[in-house]
Amino acid sequence: MSRSYEIALLPGDGIGPEVMDSALAVLKQTAQLDDLNFTYTEYEAGANYYQKSGMSISPESMEAVGKADAVLLGAMGLPSVRKPDGTEIAPQIDMREHYGLFASLRPCHLLEGVPTRTKATDVKMLVIRELTEGLFAGRHDVQPDSDESMSDRLTITRATSEKLFELAFDQAKQRRAKYGTPGHVTLLDKANVLRSNAFLRKVFDDVAKRHPSIGSDRIYIDAGSMMFVTNPERYDVVVTENVFGDITSEIAAGVVGGLGVAPSADVSATHAVFQPSHGTAPDIAGKGIANPVAMILSTVMMLEWLSEKHQDLYLLAASKRIRSATEAALKDGVLTGDLGGKASTSDVTSAIIERLEQFNG
Ligand code: ATP
Repeated sequence: MSRSYEIALLPGDGIGPEVMDSALAVLKQTAQLDDLNFTYTEYEAGANYYQKSGMSISPESMEAVGKADAVLLGAMGLPSVRKPDGTEIAPQIDMREHYGLFASLRPCHLLEGVPTRTKATDVKMLVIRELTEGLFAGRHDVQPDSDESMSDRLTITRATSEKLFELAFDQAKQRRAKYGTPGHVTLLDKANVLRSNAFLRKVFDDVAKRHPSIGSDRIYIDAGSMMFVTNPERYDVVVTENVFGDITSEIAAGVVGGLGVAPSADVSATHAVFQPSHGTAPDIAGKGIANPVAMILSTVMMLEWLSEKHQDLYLLAASKRIRSATEAALKDGVLTGDLGGKASTSDVTSAIIERLEQFNG
């Protein structure tokens, strides 16, 4: 029997609570089938909470979520709710800084039954986005209010970059063992123009030398972005600076069917927040048509992470069960509108739950 795990839930705004409900229904059914023991505590945070309280997340909630074994987050922020400086409410970014979640793991695998515009058939990549520095480094820099110019600072540190690249090479090894992928890491940068990126490449080269069994290359971000479209099969693990990663991970998601099927995990050595790559999608919120697959696959990533951290094979079995049931539902054509289907959020949820028993993890 698996030990008990405390899961912090942050449903957030827009479609966040809708996809969270779906993922929880799947997780609770799986917990029954696999005799797992989870307790859940829900916390308010995001744009709706900001409107009530003037805070994007309370200091108490920020502390409490860090004590949980893992955090599941729906989506946060609404274009209609902004801080006085014009930016959106984004406690998920504050959480990255608070807990030193320096990397976002964004697997983009082409799944059977999911329509794609690419001619490639074997897309199986992991985009790793740095989360705490790069072009977000100066987020809290004080600068004079001006109508003439405004700047953002791009900072790269050796300490964070080394951790990031060690993680990338480690992931390449793990994926090779798990999926038979080549064991290869690509750095995307702008080392030909930006000094910060020339430094990033130097650190990458240093770390690559420590992993001779893993192949590596370095491509400029502009050409590398094109290759997501023209030759996505060339990528295994892709690692890059914060904003480059923000953009390229969504291009990669687009290649494998869109944001509705793109999960993610924001990690440090000790903490992790699991959330879909998509935002709050206000255009479809409240209609019951959001695709819950990205959130459900993020829950699968949470079970895998907890399993590895606590050496708990029951959780690994449960993660496999949910992944297989989700893939089976997609293969059987249970697709939401973003994938060209007519299924509702609850149709997809039920279809996955119905298939859970077919798979023994
Ligand atoms: P953010 O910057 O907060 O990540 P975003 O600008 O990337 O947000 P999203 O909220 O992710 O925007 O939505 C982008 C588009 O993708 C919207 O048209 C939205 O309807 C669609 N979309 C996003 N997530 C889903 C989903 N789970 N199911 C269906 N459509 C989705």
